[in-house]
Amino acid sequence: MAAETLRHNCGVMGIWNDDNAAELVFHGLYSLQHRGQESAGIVSADDGRFYRHFGMGTLTQVFSGPDTLKKLKGRSAVGHNRYSTTGSSSQYNIQPLVAELRDGPVAIAHNGNLVNTQKIRRQLQEDGAIFHSTTDSEIIVHLMARSKHNMVRDKLLEAIQKVEGAYSITVLSDHALYAARDPYGWRPLCIGRKGDAWGVASETCAFDLLGYEYIQDVNPGELVVLNGSGMKVIRFAEPKRTFHCIFEHVYFSRPDSRVAGEYIDKYRRRMGKNLSEEHPVEDADIVISVPDSSNTAALGYASRSGTRFEMGLIRNHYVGRTFIQPTQTMREMGVRLKFNPVGGVLKDRKVVVVEDSIVRGTTLKKLATLLRKAGAKELHVRVSSPPIRFPCYYGMDFPSKSELIANGKSEEEIRQHIGVDSLGYLSVEGLLASVPQSEGVGYCTACFTGEYPIPLRDDEESGSKLRYKNANGDETS
Ligand code: SF4
Repeated sequence: MAAETLRHNCGVMGIWNDDNAAELVFHGLYSLQHRGQESAGIVSADDGRFYRHFGMGTLTQVFSGPDTLKKLKGRSAVGHNRYSTTGSSSQYNIQPLVAELRDGPVAIAHNGNLVNTQKIRRQLQEDGAIFHSTTDSEIIVHLMARSKHNMVRDKLLEAIQKVEGAYSITVLSDHALYAARDPYGWRPLCIGRKGDAWGVASETCAFDLLGYEYIQDVNPGELVVLNGSGMKVIRFAEPKRTFHCIFEHVYFSRPDSRVAGEYIDKYRRRMGKNLSEEHPVEDADIVISVPDSSNTAALGYASRSGTRFEMGLIRNHYVGRTFIQPTQTMREMGVRLKFNPVGGVLKDRKVVVVEDSIVRGTTLKKLATLLRKAGAKELHVRVSSPPIRFPCYYGMDFPSKSELIANGKSEEEIRQHIGVDSLGYLSVEGLLASVPQSEGVGYCTACFTGEYPIPLRDDEESGSKLRYKNANGDETS
């Protein structure tokens, strides 16, 4: 995947009760930039007034103007990095969304995809609601606006209990910062602290930069309220089983983020080790990764197989970070623009190439040609996740089923298509054995297995025939 342009969903960040809150949110979002590069926004609160700045592009592009952050006054703020998985890529859909409710303004930042929005949206529109965006997140705002409760906390609780699907959200009001996670815990969300100041972030790596201590995850089915009285946890749902997105562990989350008390790095190394046991390569000279997201899995593969890890590919980190339209020359350069092989490392070597996942396979095919031209004698691709055969409906932008290389192709056909000497994928069992397991903890593996944990209400309306697993793990349709 490192080699392909699979895009993430979103990153959320919030700060309560700290000096220059907007600046802190900016730096937190900077650590979460990998979760969305399409647009960014920050909203701050200062004595009943909300200040907002947003735009299309990466964080540094959006906040490049002089004093932009200084204008976002106040000791509390929320922010969002977006890649659109629902709703188009437009100014109207940039988050955080801001709404003036009966008792004051709120700002909402959402990560995940809701699955029952069509019906709710239609009902709201029939009741006179006017939507300003095409995002599913705005539905939560409208549901809050219609709530008869007085407190923002209760309005939010009422709204999130009407929606289904994946949501990790943070909401800022003038009185508190809220963090809520859906009962299945699809996307991560965690709480940090520094003295009397509180933070909410999609991943713990955002706190490291700010000097905040990672306190705990927001558990699935919990709403956490942060204000002058400290932290209060409200359980609003009792899930029998979670469905954490296992792809967060494979690729989305940063290896220096922590989940269930351990670094993602550790889980990825385990994937590499299990991959090495399932698909060894005899007499290999070196193991290389497709940087950067495959680095840790490759280190795991190398350590378990006893084969030396080498940097055989160097990645240019500045490609794709601008609004410049690619020219014909750039297109012709293709994958070379992003990766350059290190000839001295590869020449006459039998090479194991570790990749975290394969989506379309187009880039890996080009990479194989590059590596051979650089002198590699044999290429053995090892993938630290199973073949991706199905789309994601819970907040990840996979291409359509027909574009996925593993859809309808055998592993041997994929190997031939990519043009390598051998190919091996980690099994679903091997992947599950690499991530933390405990009572009640389960994972969504739908993009590998086609077993969708919860029904897509919107899809049901259109007559789709997907297979689902209910909260007990039983298959249903
Ligand atoms: S389908 Fe795949 S990417 Fe989507 S939530 Fe499930 S595991 Fe994650």
